[in-house]
Amino acid sequence: MSLNPFDLSGRVALVTGANTGLGQGVAAALAAAGADIVAVGRTPPVETQSAVEALGRGFHAISADLSSMEPIGKIVAQSVERFGGIDILVNNAGIIRRNDALDFTEDDWDAVMNVNLKTTFFLTQAVGRRMLEQGRGGKVINIASLLSFQGGIRVASYTASKSGIGGVTKLLANEWAAKGINVNAIAPGYFVTNNTEALRSDEDRSRDILARIPAGRWGSPEDLGGAAVFLASRASDYVHGTVLAVDGGWLGR
Ligand code: NAD
Repeated sequence: MSLNPFDLSGRVALVTGANTGLGQGVAAALAAAGADIVAVGRTPPVETQSAVEALGRGFHAISADLSSMEPIGKIVAQSVERFGGIDILVNNAGIIRRNDALDFTEDDWDAVMNVNLKTTFFLTQAVGRRMLEQGRGGKVINIASLLSFQGGIRVASYTASKSGIGGVTKLLANEWAAKGINVNAIAPGYFVTNNTEALRSDEDRSRDILARIPAGRWGSPEDLGGAAVFLASRASDYVHGTVLAVDGGWLGR
């Protein structure tokens, strides 16, 4: 075993939504720490593949739409077929819909809840079963949000889904900690990705947000890498059910 507690050599990490933004940053960081990557998403993760392969790590892409549970069996089967197992699951794929609470539609509710909470839970259930069969433990990292702690505004289904992720992270940790699986979450603050494009193009909102971030800048996907490697590695073996904020200090304010 490596003396470096952050070493991920020989581990297989499945990252959902790894083609852009935070998922891409996390996949690259896990690969840099030694993991092979299975990228799951709707569009080919071309850039992520080049970044991972440039680091000399194995890469496999699985095309899947996570708005339903339908692809879950295929995702687990293909990962196992390609790399022999799954050691790390990063539930990163997510969407957001914005509207006033009074006008919020059922479609905007269901679409967000399905991807962010329902499929995330049932994919984790399937991967957790596989980790238990493998008998070598495992690491689950859910990508939560500041809205796992706060209410937000005009994002009813998103705040419900991310508060739900906080709860499910703790529930799974309670059930699986003694079985050798660590379940934790990362709550990113305000990061420059597609998800925040609408906020960043609204000058007033963008200025107000920046003024409240103690670090004085928005996050970039690379800022999430260290937390992901920590929660994916032996270094976090006694960390269970936590939601780790990586937010430039926002929540402390
Ligand atoms: P993004 O839009 O760049 O990435 C979202 C990813 O999810 C994309 O790869 C997308 O293809 C994938 N995805 C969405 N719906 C999918 C579906 N039905 N099937 C398969 N894949 C699907 O935005 P991002 O900011 O990188 O978001 C990643 C995660 O981080 C999300 O869960 C988001 O809620 C969370 N987050 C982002 C911020 C931020 O400031 N950017 C803050 C807190 C939390």
